[in-house]
Amino acid sequence: MCRYVFRAPRVGSYVTVGREADLCPKFPGRQSDGSRFIRSEVTACPACSFAAKEEFDGLDLTPTERDDLEERLKEDGLLRVFRSNPPPWLAFHAAEVCGQERGLAARELGDLCLRASWVCRKERERPFESTFQLRAIRYFIRALKEDTLAGRELSVTTYLVGELNRRLGNHREALNWYVNASRTIEGGPALSWLERLIEDQSRLAKEQAA
Ligand SMILES: [Zn+2]
Repeated sequence: MCRYVFRAPRVGSYVTVGREADLCPKFPGRQSDGSRFIRSEVTACPACSFAAKEEFDGLDLTPTERDDLEERLKEDGLLRVFRSNPPPWLAFHAAEVCGQERGLAARELGDLCLRASWVCRKERERPFESTFQLRAIRYFIRALKEDTLAGRELSVTTYLVGELNRRLGNHREALNWYVNASRTIEGGPALSWLERLIEDQSRLAKEQAA
């Protein structure tokens, strides 16, 4: 965006060994390696903090959009505090700010926050993990109201609102969302993994609520 030229680190191929219940991929080896792989999904400019999931070459921003983005990035509180010494999750926050300005769908903004929370967990940044989980919930609920989600995306988004609530300690809220999620599944083998996950996590939330 600011025409600063830099080389984004390339992360090679990797294997995952399943997922956690909030769909965070598990990697063999050190947690910090896993964090690095998740972080490689977003690129942030070291000069102006512009960040996005896409390749920057393909972005087509008008001069007005550039100015507005530059302004937003300069004014953002977290970026101001952390820019000089960026924590691992900062690029996701920058991508969220840029995504809001660029009018990304709520589902996509929620995805950025969910990924930020995964990075925080792998890096043991507990308070920030909760902050991003809460923001992901808000975006996902907005997506369920405003975006036209269907099929797998509808079921997974609804489930994630439940699972993130459970992780934040809102067990009854979580149980309601698990029920909503299972209602969106229309049978068939494609989402049987999600049905099993909902059963397991509902059981867990009931134990935790007791
Ligand atoms: Zn830049």
